[in-house]
Amino acid sequence: MAARKLLIVEDEVAIRDMLRGALQMAGFHCAEAGDIHKAHVMVLDEKPDLILLDWMLPDGNGLELIRRLKRESATEQIPVIMLTARNEEDSKVRGLEVGADDYVTKPFSPRELIARINALLRRAYPEAASGCLECAALRLDSNGHVVTIQGQVIDIGPTEFRLLEFFLGHQGRAYTRSQILDHVWGSNVYLEERTVDVHVKRLRSALGSVAANNEIDYSRCLQTIRGTGYRFSKPVMEL
Ligand code: CA
Repeated sequence: MAARKLLIVEDEVAIRDMLRGALQMAGFHCAEAGDIHKAHVMVLDEKPDLILLDWMLPDGNGLELIRRLKRESATEQIPVIMLTARNEEDSKVRGLEVGADDYVTKPFSPRELIARINALLRRAYPEAASGCLECAALRLDSNGHVVTIQGQVIDIGPTEFRLLEFFLGHQGRAYTRSQILDHVWGSNVYLEERTVDVHVKRLRSALGSVAANNEIDYSRCLQTIRGTGYRFSKPVMEL
C-alpha cells in the first residue's frame, strides 16, 4: 500500500515541526498549513487521507474548516483528528458534532497520536487493508493494479482503472459528472464534463468484454442517471 498522506493544520511552528518529524518517521507523507485558508487550498490540491486540525488558528477555529469540508462531496469523507488544548473542552464536543472523527488533547505523545491515526485510517479505508474492492465476481486489486471478473483479467486503461476504483468504493450512490471529475481527476484540473462520458463508455466496454461468459453483465452496473450523472450499483440477477 502506498504511504498515506496527512495534512497537518497547525500555526505553531514548533508543534508542526515536531508532528512532521514524528509522522515521517512513522512512514507518513506530510503536507502542512498554518491557517484555515491555506489548509482548504491544500486539501483540494493534495487530497490528504487524513487531517490533523489544530483548534485555534490565526484566521478562525477548526470548526470552520470542518464545515467547509463537509459541504463538498470530494472532501466530506476525509477523516479529521482535532488537536485541542486542555482548556478547550467545549471545542471537542462542538468539533465532534460538526463531523470531526476524533480528538487528541495537547500535550500528547506522538506514539498516542500515531496509534489514533492508524486506528482512524483503518476505520475510514477498510478496503486498503486488503487492497481489493469487489462487487459480486468483479474484483479490483489496487496493489496489483489488475481487474478481474470471475478470475479472468480484463483489459483496462489507467483512467478507467481509477474511475472503476472510485465507483467500487462508492457503490449505490449517484454522482454528477463534476463530482466524478473532482474525485477521479482532481478538483484543480479543468476538464469538460464530456470527458467523464468518454471514459465511462470505455469502462463499460471493458466491463462488458467478458459478459458473454458470465451471468452478470457488469457494464450494466454502471448506470446513467438522467439529469444527474452516474451510479454504480450491484447487479440484479436476471432470470
Ligand atoms: Ca493554534
